[in-house]
Amino acid sequence: MDCTARSLLLPILSLLLRCVPPAVSIIYPPNEVNLLDSKASQGELGWISYPAHGWEEISGVDEHYTPIRTFQVCNVMEYSQNNWLRTNWIPRQSAQKIYVELKFTLRDCNSIPLVLGTCKETFNLLYQEADDDQGSHFREHQFSKIDTIAADESFTQMDLGDRILKLNTEVREVGPLTKKGFYLAFQDVGACVALVSVRVFFKKCPNTVRNLAVFPDTVPMDSQSLVEVKGSCVNHSKEEEPPRMYCSTEGEWLVPIGKCLCNPGYEERSSTCQMCRAGFYKSTLGNMECSKCPPHSFSHHEGALHCGCEKNYFRAEGDPASMACTRPPSAPRNVISSINETSVILDWSWPEDSGGRRDMTFTVLCKRCRGGGSSGGPLRCEPCRSNVRFFPRAAGLHNTTVTVGDLLAHTNYTFEIEAQNGVSAMAPKMRQHAAVTITTNQAAPSPVSMIRKDKTYRNSVSLSWHEPERPNGIILDYEIKYYEKEEQETSYTILRARGCNVTLSGLKPGTAYLLQIRARTAAGYGASSATFQFETSPDSAFSISGENSQVVLIAVSSAVAIILLTVLLYVLIGRFCCRSKSKHPDEKRLQFGNGHLRLPGIRTYVDPHTYEDPGQAVHEFAKELDASCISIDKVVGAGEFGEVCSGRLRTPGKKEIAVAIKTLKGGYVERQRRDFLREASIMGQFDHPNIIRLEGVVTKSRPVMIVVEFMENGSLDSFLRQHDGHFTVIQLVGMLRGIASGMKYLSDMGYVHRDLAARNILVNSNLVCKVSDFGLSRVLEDDPEAAYTTTGGKIPIRWTAPEAIAYRKFSSASDTWSYGIVMWEVMSYGERPYWEMSNQDVILSIEEGYRLPAPLGCPVALHQLMLHCWQKERSHRPKFVDIVTFLDKLIRNPSSLLPLVEDIQSLPESPCPSEEMDYPMFISVGEWLDSIKMSQYKNNFMAAGYNTLDAVATMSIEDVRRVGVELIGHQRRIISSAQTLHLQLLHEHDKGFHV
Ligand code: AMP
Repeated sequence: MDCTARSLLLPILSLLLRCVPPAVSIIYPPNEVNLLDSKASQGELGWISYPAHGWEEISGVDEHYTPIRTFQVCNVMEYSQNNWLRTNWIPRQSAQKIYVELKFTLRDCNSIPLVLGTCKETFNLLYQEADDDQGSHFREHQFSKIDTIAADESFTQMDLGDRILKLNTEVREVGPLTKKGFYLAFQDVGACVALVSVRVFFKKCPNTVRNLAVFPDTVPMDSQSLVEVKGSCVNHSKEEEPPRMYCSTEGEWLVPIGKCLCNPGYEERSSTCQMCRAGFYKSTLGNMECSKCPPHSFSHHEGALHCGCEKNYFRAEGDPASMACTRPPSAPRNVISSINETSVILDWSWPEDSGGRRDMTFTVLCKRCRGGGSSGGPLRCEPCRSNVRFFPRAAGLHNTTVTVGDLLAHTNYTFEIEAQNGVSAMAPKMRQHAAVTITTNQAAPSPVSMIRKDKTYRNSVSLSWHEPERPNGIILDYEIKYYEKEEQETSYTILRARGCNVTLSGLKPGTAYLLQIRARTAAGYGASSATFQFETSPDSAFSISGENSQVVLIAVSSAVAIILLTVLLYVLIGRFCCRSKSKHPDEKRLQFGNGHLRLPGIRTYVDPHTYEDPGQAVHEFAKELDASCISIDKVVGAGEFGEVCSGRLRTPGKKEIAVAIKTLKGGYVERQRRDFLREASIMGQFDHPNIIRLEGVVTKSRPVMIVVEFMENGSLDSFLRQHDGHFTVIQLVGMLRGIASGMKYLSDMGYVHRDLAARNILVNSNLVCKVSDFGLSRVLEDDPEAAYTTTGGKIPIRWTAPEAIAYRKFSSASDTWSYGIVMWEVMSYGERPYWEMSNQDVILSIEEGYRLPAPLGCPVALHQLMLHCWQKERSHRPKFVDIVTFLDKLIRNPSSLLPLVEDIQSLPESPCPSEEMDYPMFISVGEWLDSIKMSQYKNNFMAAGYNTLDAVATMSIEDVRRVGVELIGHQRRIISSAQTLHLQLLHEHDKGFHV
C-alpha cells in the first residue's frame, strides 16, 4: 500500500479504533461459539495476504490500549486489483453452519479525487473447506464465494473532519460444512477497506437447566428441523415426566416438556434441589418448598422427611406429616348418672384437653363391684356381664351420653368413661378416665313369655310359662288373672302361683277364656304378659279332648282321688289353724271383693309359742346344719345371747356363702336356749329379699348357732351415721322401699314386728336393707331402747305407736308408725328420734299432736308420708302395700322428690306440712284447690280435664305445668298436696277394694 492510500485510510482507523469497544469487555450471546475472533488475538494473526502489497496487517490499540489486529487495503488509484487475504485454517468443531461477522469501514469513492473508474466500494467474501491445515498453500480457484460485501455506509472526507464513525457490520451464513475445517478469504478488487474485526462463530443451544432437568450444549442441525434433546434430572430429583426440549437452528431452546421433582427432604433453590434446613421438612416428591415443622414436632438435621414428635406427643398412623403431634385427651369431666331402676343414663362433659385432635370418641367400661366401703373387705370389681346393654353402644361414642340397661337390681356398678383419640393406643400410660359408681334400684320383673296350655279338661286347664327374661330379683310369685272372653273383664279371677305352672279349675266347659300373667318380686309386679286365650273342653268331651275312654277313666278316678285328698287336707289344715289360735285379726288374707282370690303360695305366720315343744318349731322351720360346714372368721357384733360372728357356710353341692353366725354363749339355761332359737323359728318361716334369710341352725352340737345371710354393712342406723350425707335421695328412697317391701311381706304373713327401727335393719353390700331381729317379746327384752311402761311392758317408746304404748295394741298399723320413724331416721342419716327428749316428754308431746319435723333436705313427699304414718287414728295410717306403691311412684318419677320441705316452708302463704295433721277427704277438685289456697287455678284444672281427685292425685310436675301453673312455688305446693291426696286415696281404696 502506498503512502497515498495510507493517508486515505489511517485517520479513519485511528478514529475507528477509539470507537471500537474493548475486546475484553465484549460479551457475546451465550448461544454463539466463536471459532475465530480477530480482536481476541494479541499478536500477529499470521493470515496470508496475496499479493504482498494488497492487504496489510496493522497493529493498533483500542481506547483501553488493548492491542488489536486489523487489515486494510486501499489501492484505489490502480486498475485491476485482486488482493486476497486468507485466514488461518479454522477447525469447524461440531458446527454444520457457521456465521461470519465482519466489521469494516469503506471509503466512499466519490470522496476520493482522481480515482473515478478504478475505485470500488465492495469486496468479496469466500471460503474453502479443508480437513486439515494446508499451510501457506493457497489457490484462488479452490475458494467459493460467499457474498460480495458492500458497505451500508461509506465514509467521506467530511466525516473524518466531523469525526463521524461509519462502521459497517455484515454477517453471512455458510453451510452446511462437512470437512473438519475451512479457510475464509477476503478479495479486494480496488476498494478502500479497513477490516476492523472478523468473527466466525456457530450457534448452539447452550446447556441449561429447565424444570430441574439439565440439557447439555446442543448444536443445531443445518436444516430447518429442530433437534430433540432429552434432559437429565438434577441431583436429588426424580423424573415426573421425561424432560425434553427442542434446539432450534437459531440456538434457541424451544418447547420444554416434562419435568423433574425434588426428592423428599429437598426443595428447589436456583434450579437445584437443596436439603431442607433444620426445623423444616418435606415428606413428598415435588417442587414445593420445605415446610416448617408443625407444632410439637422438630427436625434437628437438614434434609428431614418428617419432623419427630416432642416427648409425650404422637402421630397416629395416617396422620399427615403436616399435622401437629398430638396426645391422648384428658379425662371426661362432670360425669352425672341418673338411675332408673336397673338402667342408668350417664352424661359427661367433654375433656378439658382434646390432645389437639378432632377424632375423639368415648368408651364406657362397665364393672360390677363388691366389697369395699364399710364392709371392710377389699373392693373387687369384675367386668359386667355381656347381656348388659349400652345404647347407642359402649365404644366409639361420639356424643357425651350413654344409656346402660339390663343391669342387676340393687347392685353396685362402676362405669369408667374414657375419652380416646387416634393416639390413645400409643400412650397407654397417659390415658385417663373418669369413673362413676352407682347402685341400681329395685326393678319390677319383665313380662313372662311363652304361655302354653299343657292339658285341657271340661272344667280346668293346666298352663305353664317361662320365667321373665329379666326377673330383677327373686320371683315371689306369679299373679294369674283370667276371665271369660265374653264377659270382657267385668268379672275376673286372680290366682297366685309360686312356680311357672298352674291349673285353673272351676271353669265352664266349652268356654273361651282370656288370661294374663305377671311376676312379682320385692320390687312389685312386673308388666303383664300378652293376653293368652284358651278354651275348655266342651260338655260332650268328658275328659281330655282326643283321648280314648281308658284315659278318661284314669282321669276321672284321678280327679276323684284329688278331690278326696283335698278334702282331707282341708280338714287337717282346719284343725291345725284352730290349734294355732292366731291372735292377729289384721293378718287375715286380702279379700278381693266378690272375685274368688286364692293365695296358694303365701303362707301364714305361725307363732312358735303355739307349739307345745318349741324345739319342734325350730326343726319345722329351720334346717339343721352340720357344724363342720361352718367356719368362723371374726366377731362382728354382740347379741343378747352371745357373740355374732362372720364366717362361711359350705353346704354340700352348693356354693360357699358368707354368713353371720349368732352363738349362744355357754352356761345358758333351757329357757335361754328356747328364747334364742325362737328367732330362728320365726325367721325360718320367711322368704323375702328384704327379710334377713335364715340359712339354718346348729342345735345338735355346741355352741348352739343360728346361721343367717351375712350383711356386709351391718345395722342401718350405724351405717347411715358413718355415711352421713353420702347418698342421693333416690338411694335413700330405695332403702326405704326395701324395708317397706319387707314389712309388707311380714304384714301379709300376719307377723307384727313390734320393734321396727333402723338398728334392727341390716344392710348388705348392695345397699339392700333387710328387716331383722325377730322374736316377739324377746326382741323387746333385747332392745336397749325398750323401756318399761306404766303397764309393766318393755317398749321402745320413740318408735312405738301411742296405742301400743298405752294399752299394748300392737298391729301392722303400729308397725307402720315405727316405719314412719325409720323413714325419719333414714332421711336424717341416723339421727336419734326426738333427739335428747326424755321418753316421758316424747309420749306427752305425741299426745298433744307434736310430730317430728322433716329432716334437712327431706323431700316434701317423704315427710308427708311420715306424717301419714303417724296419724293418731291407726286405721288412717297407710298400709305397707300403699307405702310400697307410693315409694315406687316417687322412684319412677324422681322430679316428685324435688320439692323440699324447707323450700315449701319458705313460701309466705304456705301451710306448714308438719302442722297439717288432719287429712280431710275433699269432695271436689275445686274444694281441694281452695284448701291449698290455689283457687285461682280451678278453671285451668277443669279446662284440662282434671275434674276428679283420682286424676289429680297422679299428676306429675309436668302435668301441673301443662295445666298452666307457671309459678314454681305454686307448682310445688300443688304437687306435694297431690301426693298426699294420692296416699289418702290409696288408703280409701283399700278400705273397699272392688274388682
Ligand atoms: P343382733 O343380736 O341381731 O342384734 O345382732 C348384733 C349385731 O351383730 C348387729 O348390730 C350387727 O352389727 C351384727 N349382725 C347381726 N346380724 C348380722 C348379719 N346377718 N350380718 C352382719 N352383721 C350382723
